Amino acid sequence: MFDHVPDMAARRADLGPDALALRDHDSGRDWTFAAINAAANGMAEGLRAQGLAEGDRIAILCQNRVEFFVALFACQKTGIILCPLNWRQPAPELVDVLEPFAPRALLYEDAFADTAATVAGSLALPAWRLEGEAAGWMAAGGPGSAGAIPAGRVWYLLFTSGTTGRPKAVIQTARMAWANAVNIGQAIGLTGADRSVNFLPLFHTAGINLYTLPVFLTGGSSTVLRKFDAGAALDLIRSGAVTQFFGVPAIYQALSLLAEVDGVDWSRLRCGCGGAPLPEPLIRFFAARGCKVLNGFGMTETGPTVFLMDAAHAETKIGSVGRPQVLTECRLDGVPDGQPGTGEVLFRGPNITPGYYGNPEATAAAFDPDGWLRSGDVGRRDADGFVWVVDRIKDMYISGGENVYPAEVERVLNEHADVLEAAVVGVPDAKWGEVGAAFVIPRPGARVDAAALRAWCRERLAAYKVPATVRAVDDLPRTAAGKVRKPDLRLWAQRGE
Ligand code: ATP
Repeated sequence: MFDHVPDMAARRADLGPDALALRDHDSGRDWTFAAINAAANGMAEGLRAQGLAEGDRIAILCQNRVEFFVALFACQKTGIILCPLNWRQPAPELVDVLEPFAPRALLYEDAFADTAATVAGSLALPAWRLEGEAAGWMAAGGPGSAGAIPAGRVWYLLFTSGTTGRPKAVIQTARMAWANAVNIGQAIGLTGADRSVNFLPLFHTAGINLYTLPVFLTGGSSTVLRKFDAGAALDLIRSGAVTQFFGVPAIYQALSLLAEVDGVDWSRLRCGCGGAPLPEPLIRFFAARGCKVLNGFGMTETGPTVFLMDAAHAETKIGSVGRPQVLTECRLDGVPDGQPGTGEVLFRGPNITPGYYGNPEATAAAFDPDGWLRSGDVGRRDADGFVWVVDRIKDMYISGGENVYPAEVERVLNEHADVLEAAVVGVPDAKWGEVGAAFVIPRPGARVDAAALRAWCRERLAAYKVPATVRAVDDLPRTAAGKVRKPDLRLWAQRGE
């Protein structure tokens, strides 16, 4: 689909120069589409003047801020490849992540000056301040790009968290972003009147593409928060400044615990959620307040949205991620097309990554011979075509010869009134091969009674699925996107932590 696409910032600036595009929450500064495009042209010119050219990599280290999007659009115009860094990682880790990709320069914000100095020093890179040199380029403007952008050109890279080896750099293209915008726009009916909020980290596909870029491409606006802060986000939502937003389950969990949650007219909002299983008690919590939180499924490799539940079925197909998005083909390994069944979920379409940057082996391993991306997740499809994510293949464990999907056990534990969140991993066991170890965060004021929770599971699950141990914890090890780090949890379980 599409060989070339318009320069996104330039096209939006043509279509509605004076409309609000992005608002910086802390400073209150508003950026119109024309201002974003002019600044991106200036940044593009500044980078070119420093000798950077198409195909060069430039890293960026900052929390969420409008200038990140300016840099992103400047890279689209020039073909320079943006590499957003995880600001939670210390300098030595960032050096490890970046080194194989031989970046030519680093952009950073002053809050990370020390880390930036170490990274730039270790890799012998020039480093430019967003509040300094880059601010000058943005203010100066420039002529912009020569015209259409090759749709499949590498635009930016997103690094995987590296829990299973060295981080891989997932290639992102303009084609993927447009396809995601079409998928999202169709699924939730975006219009230029929509206002969203940006608080998921920008070194993650969700921060960029859910829903900030789709809203931008539709001509709507987003308020950019430096990072997720439940109180600030709720204030913004309550003020009416937001018509819809996307969060991960941990974000809905945090919002639901605030006393002020009931001061919001939730019925006005359209909310999406993904990245990890959405616990049913949370779906019910927001449904009781008039808001259907739509469960979606996505991956960094898929741009990200491949599934997003439609509102009409949110209550009848509870827990499902819906049917495949309009531009995405999906099949289940070993299951005939259109038939109900269970198998690994595979995807194909314009929103799918061409592969991992500089890593042909990993790219070859990710796709089947017909070019379908293997998700590594097991899905179940019903007779109406709705899909439920069963679990990740690699998180499944085998107890007494039987397959156990931790997500199923977690769902049962999450239903218990004393449980705020549960996570289950398989750990080695002399008798059964593997058994389940459950970690449970109690609800505020509640106490976790391991025997009672195991009895609760026994009433609802086959015996081999009942976790052998249940431990109360204050929190769980998480990725920056709020997902539970199962490898860390397996270590906790084995060390008896
Ligand atoms: P990394 O690749 O960095 O180790 P990751 O695999 O979590 O981390 P992402 O691309 O952020 O990378 O996440 C994609 C995965 O998230 C999917 O493969 C799936 O396992 C999980 N996921 C996404 N949405 C859902 C959902 N709605 N329900 C259950 N799991 C989901």
